[in-house]
Amino acid sequence: MPELPEVETVRRGMRAHVVHHKVTAVEVGRERSVRRVGREAVIDGLLGTIITDVRRRGKYLLCDLDSGDAVMIHLRMSGRVLVCDAGSEHPPHTHVVVHLAADDGAQSELLFVDPRTFGEVVVYDPRDEQAVIPELARLGVDPIEDEFNADVLEKVLHGRRGAIKSLLLNQHLVAGIGNIYADEILHRAKLRWSRPADQLSRRQLSTLATSITDVLAAAIEAGGSTLDDTQYVNVDGSFGGYQHEHRVYGRAGEQCVTCGKSRVVRVAVAGRGTWYCPRCQR
Ligand SMILES: [Zn+2]
Repeated sequence: MPELPEVETVRRGMRAHVVHHKVTAVEVGRERSVRRVGREAVIDGLLGTIITDVRRRGKYLLCDLDSGDAVMIHLRMSGRVLVCDAGSEHPPHTHVVVHLAADDGAQSELLFVDPRTFGEVVVYDPRDEQAVIPELARLGVDPIEDEFNADVLEKVLHGRRGAIKSLLLNQHLVAGIGNIYADEILHRAKLRWSRPADQLSRRQLSTLATSITDVLAAAIEAGGSTLDDTQYVNVDGSFGGYQHEHRVYGRAGEQCVTCGKSRVVRVAVAGRGTWYCPRCQR
């Protein structure tokens, strides 16, 4: 599932390729991808508009239109946003096609591709955001978009007794971190996934805050992580590179590259894999 670095990479790719482009036609194949507002609202809301900006909150992509409306795209499990030349062959599971024209007349297509169809495309009036996409207002601090440091993290975790990993995954607290980056962040911070958040020292919180921003920044720099399923790709179809820098995620049984003395362990927590080094992470 794409996490903050993957969604940020897609945002940057979209920003480079679709901003200032005009929507000349819209095709919606699968209704499920536009289930929240329906086919008509997506087509009518997009047609004839110019995309003015592409933003991100947590794992949510938000496009601004010159009409004042906005587009929310959530990739969920397997969604992809691709930008291709007009007339290109579409990959299987392409559910939404937005035809675009640049100032110079060059034509391209923005595709929303989603084999598992958990993702969605929503066109909405930002004044109705609370009614249409109420989860946006409940998102926690974005560690890249917002000011983020040990003070912010301490405030966010204050009074929380849960295991630190489950709190990092809670989108209402810190938005954008999923299973891959939670494991990588905790490894860098030398913290075991199960550590109760309310027992972390100020120094540990500070290290954790730095680890969050460092790991996410490095992953964005590498274009995100494309796993063996190759579900995540950038808008031009290229793979991310951060999977080669994972220190624990998906590396059960391998020698820990940080300490070189213990093997990475995988445990199942709430049905999901958690990878850590029992020597580095206490
Ligand atoms: Zn280790």
